[in-house]
Amino acid sequence: MAVSSSDLSTAEIDRKFVFHPFTMLADHERSGPPVVITQGKGAVLTDERGIDYVDAMAGLWCVNVGYGRSEIADALRDQANQLSYCHAFSSMSSDKPALLAQRLIDMAPAGMSKVFFGNSGSDANDTQVKLVWYYNNALGRPQKKKIIARQRGYHGVTIMTAGLTGLPGLHAGFDLPLPMVRHTTAPRRLWEGHGLTDAEFTAKLVADLEELIAREGADTIGAMIMEPVMGAGGVIAPPEGYYAAMRDVLRRHDILLIADEVICGFGRLGAMFGSELLDMQPDMITVAKGLTSAYFPLSACIVGQKVWDVLSGAGSQFGAFGHGYTYSSHPLGAAAALANLDLIDKENMLARVADEGAHMQAALRAAFADHPLVGEVRGQALIGAVEFVKEVRDTGPVAFDPALKVAARIVKGALDRGVIGRALPSADTVAFSPPFVIQREEIDRSVAAFRDAADQVL
Ligand code: PLP
Repeated sequence: MAVSSSDLSTAEIDRKFVFHPFTMLADHERSGPPVVITQGKGAVLTDERGIDYVDAMAGLWCVNVGYGRSEIADALRDQANQLSYCHAFSSMSSDKPALLAQRLIDMAPAGMSKVFFGNSGSDANDTQVKLVWYYNNALGRPQKKKIIARQRGYHGVTIMTAGLTGLPGLHAGFDLPLPMVRHTTAPRRLWEGHGLTDAEFTAKLVADLEELIAREGADTIGAMIMEPVMGAGGVIAPPEGYYAAMRDVLRRHDILLIADEVICGFGRLGAMFGSELLDMQPDMITVAKGLTSAYFPLSACIVGQKVWDVLSGAGSQFGAFGHGYTYSSHPLGAAAALANLDLIDKENMLARVADEGAHMQAALRAAFADHPLVGEVRGQALIGAVEFVKEVRDTGPVAFDPALKVAARIVKGALDRGVIGRALPSADTVAFSPPFVIQREEIDRSVAAFRDAADQVL
């Protein structure tokens, strides 16, 4: 049926025609979007009514250098005028992806060798799984294919990566996870580590991993994927000594380690790579989001030498490497990424993240730490979270009834006060992950808006 949209508002058109991700579909059809954003500058978004919002989430943890950066817009325009597209199949090449790959290898943790470009964090993690399978097939170990991920980890929404994601909301209705995925315990201190010291908690998490590997058989497990600091699953940093101990187990069983740096990569923790900061020493690294600060959809699998040597030697068995996207090595994405990385360097953003991050962490703790209905305030640098619980007993926390939708209501309250945060799936947790360019006054305003909203809801 042809529908004239001329006399509909944007909100009405959206409600009628847009199939939104991660949305209660029927609710959206009924009530439409709460705001229609028309502009962004720095850390501030403006809606069609001219109302400003501090975006304390940098979109979806991605607009790291802030909105409206003319340096990246100009790089995109210049690249589109010069060479709008060039594929990378069968050794075709263009200059910007080559320069970006070189730059990524130069800045990546030691031992990284090659860069495979994709479009999103999901397809990059999907590629990583295919690389692990290809690697083990090339080595004559066709049974070594299962992938371990962690409960509450977030790795994407393709069939494989939604399965790797350890959040039940991404499996419901989709016949997931696939049978080759296993999940182990998340390093979530509030719940899984209640009352334990760092050393005790690390030992428990490592024992869980050991037990899983023993149960499945190490010869059936190809890789484990971990976010340095978990994002969507609750902003969860591991206890002291965790990665060194987990890595030892994986190495002992010849299981590859994939660091999913889609959120942490390019400065969110105050270091270029979270895996480096936390000494993960991965075999493969996934990056997306902050690679272009979301000015263009671009992701990359950064592959270590050990894996590359096997992949590149597999041609005699499998022929040409049979994987790649139309938009792999997109010159516009690479141009945006190069301009984005220039900004991070020129504006000394890692130092800025450390300074403003310390301020944000202190402000969140000052506002929430002693609140009786706050289980934990956590985070590092410019990523933080507040988890609301009904109470914390000696035996551990007690959750609110999910039907109360505590975090979602607090986020709505903050939106009404001009601040955008995010309620994380399946826990009463509110996340903060602002653009690196956020002003101190905007951090304070955001925290105050959330405290105010929480006081009203709780
Ligand atoms: N990995 C992590 C750690 C993420 O946070 C995300 C998205 O939030 C993804 C992968 C998936 O990335 P995308 O949404 O670009 O597919």
